[in-house]
Amino acid sequence: MAEQERVEQGSISIHTENIFPIIKKWLYSEHDIFLRELVSNAVDAISKLKHLNAVEGLGLADEFAVDVRVDEGAGTLTISDNGIGMTADEIRRYINQIAFSSAEEFVSRFKDADDPAELIGHFGLGFYSAFMVADRVEIRSRSYLEDAEGAHWSCDGTTSYELRPFPKSERGTDVVLHLNGESKEFLKADRLRQVLKRYCNFLPVPIRLAGEQVNDCEPLWSRTPGDLKDEDYLEFYRKLYPLSEDPLFWIHLNVDFPFNLKGIIYFPRIGHEFDVTKSHIKLFCNQVFVTDNCPELLPEFLRPLQGCIDAPDLPLNVSRSYLQQEPQVRKIQEVVSGRIAGKIADLARKDRDAFAGIWENIHTFIKYGMMQDDKFCDRLMDHVLYRTTGEGGWTTLTEYLDRAGEKHAGKVFYANDEVAQAQCLRLFRGQGIEVLILDTLIDSHFVQFLEMKRGEVKFVRVDAEIDQALVDSSSENELVTSPDGKSDKERLADFVTRTLEQEKVKVRVDYLRDEQLPGLLVVDERMRRIQDMSRMISGGKDVHALDQATFVVNGASNAGRRVMDLLRAGNTETAELLVRHMFDLACMAHQEFDGARMEAFLERSSRLLGLVGVEGDQGR
Ligand code: ADP
Repeated sequence: MAEQERVEQGSISIHTENIFPIIKKWLYSEHDIFLRELVSNAVDAISKLKHLNAVEGLGLADEFAVDVRVDEGAGTLTISDNGIGMTADEIRRYINQIAFSSAEEFVSRFKDADDPAELIGHFGLGFYSAFMVADRVEIRSRSYLEDAEGAHWSCDGTTSYELRPFPKSERGTDVVLHLNGESKEFLKADRLRQVLKRYCNFLPVPIRLAGEQVNDCEPLWSRTPGDLKDEDYLEFYRKLYPLSEDPLFWIHLNVDFPFNLKGIIYFPRIGHEFDVTKSHIKLFCNQVFVTDNCPELLPEFLRPLQGCIDAPDLPLNVSRSYLQQEPQVRKIQEVVSGRIAGKIADLARKDRDAFAGIWENIHTFIKYGMMQDDKFCDRLMDHVLYRTTGEGGWTTLTEYLDRAGEKHAGKVFYANDEVAQAQCLRLFRGQGIEVLILDTLIDSHFVQFLEMKRGEVKFVRVDAEIDQALVDSSSENELVTSPDGKSDKERLADFVTRTLEQEKVKVRVDYLRDEQLPGLLVVDERMRRIQDMSRMISGGKDVHALDQATFVVNGASNAGRRVMDLLRAGNTETAELLVRHMFDLACMAHQEFDGARMEAFLERSSRLLGLVGVEGDQGR
């Protein structure tokens, strides 16, 4: 029979209006996906044959590969594989019917999607995506079956096709795309390499571009963790994120139950701030790249993490908002966060010093995660480190409270600004009371969270109250009472109140165990938190820093005693000078002085300096 007579011309049965213009028009924005679809088909065809080879003992010893070639002159791009191939009958069934109806279904879903662009990024269109970039597509195929005859299929983007016998010497399939005018970019090797690197970089079969392999067939996540060294993980990371610093640590996921999942998650150097709206994880499905923008895959707090997840069972052709409700995704989230928590706990247990070394880089992430996720919180509560003025420099909360014992049971003293609160810190240090340094952005929220979570613990900033341990009540008792029946303590308090004339600042005299400390400005912890909050809301304006503050004059300080001496000697003027100065010194830790106040302070300083010799001599 003449070849000509065996040409079959047919029409693909159609339900949607004209599907081809839709494919071209609607899917235009991400049209490079066609290459992923066609190369994946070629890889599947090879995987199927490899499977048969193994199961049925076909005895094939070929080098399996997918070849991508261009013919610039002819304007064609060809994807060839030496896989299972198709008979004419199979082309009719798989390409004309199955592939077409699934493309049709995809397109109809695509038309109805809220955000079509997000669908195409996931899986779908398949073979017919070729028509995004080609005016005409040919298939030349020969099945692996013995004595199979080659077949040639051709379609020019209408619903009619042509199918004829074709003399093909090699087993496998060539898909030939006659690129359309707008898609000539895919004749350029650089552009093709870029697309192949993006979507096909980890496919399990060699992908060759003009004879040169572009992919890594055995990505690290598909290998056995026991066979891998740290350097392997670091090298893989550098390939994935060439511009990033080396990660802090990583976990290798290999889950079989209740779902299949492999992957490597890296913990990058995050620092204090990170963006939880973006995901950095690359999602694969059987080593085919799907997307690197799928924040739904991980709980919000894990989004700064990097790496790869290969989730072959995920329904990827659903929209992203749907993905979020997918029970599998929930389970993935749980598994990943559980493993991350486990890894962090291990690091903390293994080597406290090394853990403290990376703490700066991970603490924001951990604290944020604990506030977001109860399970994560419970697993890490005992491993959170706090910088402390005590021995070793770092402590856990439980250790701190154990050491506090009866002295200040359940009370945690902290500072959030070592410079501004230096005086208070010295007072605490002098009495051997340990103070935690909580000076990062997230700490004020974390403190509140901890108090809520652990009802028995109360955090008190060092300048929030004067703890009894810091007061020397014995020296208070020693004081003489003056003829008017008032104690020194009362007289000093009266004098300071009158001198300062501060409406909003209360005055109190305490006998603190630090002679060098003239006085302190304290704001009740609860009050200050409310103020901080309103300041945050109002953008730092309306609330005056000294509202609700108490000026604690240290009656036991050198300056305090000096004021009393001066009063007894009737030198009210110098006593006032001294009191104003003591007040300014205490205020300095809390607020910046404006020009006028600074000027007054400097002028007074100079007057006081002038008095040093004179007053000092007189006082003796
Ligand atoms: P899917 O790959 O999702 O099944 P496609 O539309 O991409 O859908 O392909 C439809 C079918 O055509 C495939 O399932 C396969 O049977 C067949 N096919 C496509 N490409 C090839 C190929 N290169 N070799 C052998 N069969 C192929």
